[in-house]
Amino acid sequence: MALLVLKFGGTSVADIDRIRNVAAHVKREVDDGHACAVVVSAMAGQTNQLVAWVEQAWGFKERQKKNGGEASAQYDGREYDAVVSSGEQVTSGLLALVLQSLGMRARSWQGWQIPLHTDTAHRAARITGLAVDELRARMTEGEVAVIAGFQGIAPGNRISTLGRGGSDTSAVALAAALGAERCDIYTDVDGVYTTDPRVVPKAHRLDRISYEEMLEMASQGAKVLQTRSVELAMQRGVRVLVRSSFDPPDLGGKKHAEPGGGLGTLVCHEDEIVEQNVVSGIAYARDEAKVTLLKIADKPGVAAQVFCPLAEANINVDMIVQNVSEDGRYTDLTFTVQSADLDRALEVLRKAKDQIGYLDLRGSTDIAKVSAIGVGMRSHAGVAAQMFSALAEKGINIEAISTSEIKISVLIDAAYAELAVRTLHSLFGLDSR
Ligand code: ADP
Ligand code: ASP
Ligand code: MG
Repeated sequence: MALLVLKFGGTSVADIDRIRNVAAHVKREVDDGHACAVVVSAMAGQTNQLVAWVEQAWGFKERQKKNGGEASAQYDGREYDAVVSSGEQVTSGLLALVLQSLGMRARSWQGWQIPLHTDTAHRAARITGLAVDELRARMTEGEVAVIAGFQGIAPGNRISTLGRGGSDTSAVALAAALGAERCDIYTDVDGVYTTDPRVVPKAHRLDRISYEEMLEMASQGAKVLQTRSVELAMQRGVRVLVRSSFDPPDLGGKKHAEPGGGLGTLVCHEDEIVEQNVVSGIAYARDEAKVTLLKIADKPGVAAQVFCPLAEANINVDMIVQNVSEDGRYTDLTFTVQSADLDRALEVLRKAKDQIGYLDLRGSTDIAKVSAIGVGMRSHAGVAAQMFSALAEKGINIEAISTSEIKISVLIDAAYAELAVRTLHSLFGLDSR
């Protein structure tokens, strides 16, 4: 008997028929003798609806209008979490009921009931502790634990949520705490592809991907797994299998395929992967915004004056480019932040205008970041040169560049995002034959 964590995303639990399909997958594992914890997301679209209601209740749009495009004050994160966590409460109860209707023992668990403890960073809280003794005891007695993903409990007994896509992190955290054999992430694609298969039909499924590459893919925009879930899986050595809930529950032809050998994509240690391309995947993100400070003084300490107040406001900065100063006195500084943080970033910089000293401040969301990722880059030179030449040939201008040991990202005009992804996918030999 193995202990398994199974996680089902929004499209997999979108209605009662889909929840019945999920129950059939769970039943297969239980019939095979496994003890199962099942983590569920809210029904597809439900969390977006809940967020929209929160914004309506707070009068978000009206405030934006009044403040010349900026929403300024944010709503109370504790109440946001109280509302948006509710979608998972519904699906966990419904799945427990469907499992019971099939004659299985099942019980739903909300974050506070487990309890899954988090810090107080409401809307994107981090897990600080997870008690699994009772869950484990019940699971080994044959009861299926159905867990509401995405939610936990913060100090002060307030409901918290783990950031959008956070059910993946609930599942991996649970698998780590339970010492599960595997964490199966069931979604609407049958694995991790060389790039988003909805953008590039020629993308192909990878049998295996290393933790490090998956971490870069996720953090550079491949939303198939939440970045934190991959970070956690890597730290705790959790084997994660991304697979499709739309495969027939009896698995049809895939019944005998191995995880990571024909069935889904196994996220695992690099040394478990035999074949390795230089570039394993292309990711893109459209949720970053560009901030430009024109004519700031070119002298020591200015960058600190710009970035310290942003850090204090908890705003993450990603790419940074500082132009070469023509006269040795003034220069321009461009950097990116999450689009959701743009208003706040502009507000912080406006307040700090006197200390920083700049001529003008501009913000824009018409940008995209496209990244090539692969552990093979460690031992291959020239990947960046190839990438820049291919983009130049298509007339795509690069506004900023950032690199890591296994990744090269470029910032470009949003209108060219898909063309850039397709170009790089072909360039690095990833198109399916
Ligand atoms: P869930 O609701 O199951 O959590 P998500 O919508 O969060 O599912 O993630 C699955 C989606 O991720 C896919 O439908 C696909 O469009 C997108 N995606 C982006 N990049 C990739 C990739 N490299 N491989 C697979 N899917 C990807
Ligand atoms: N329902 C949440 C969201 O849409 C969490 C998740 O799906 O993982 O972000
Ligand atoms: Mg998701």
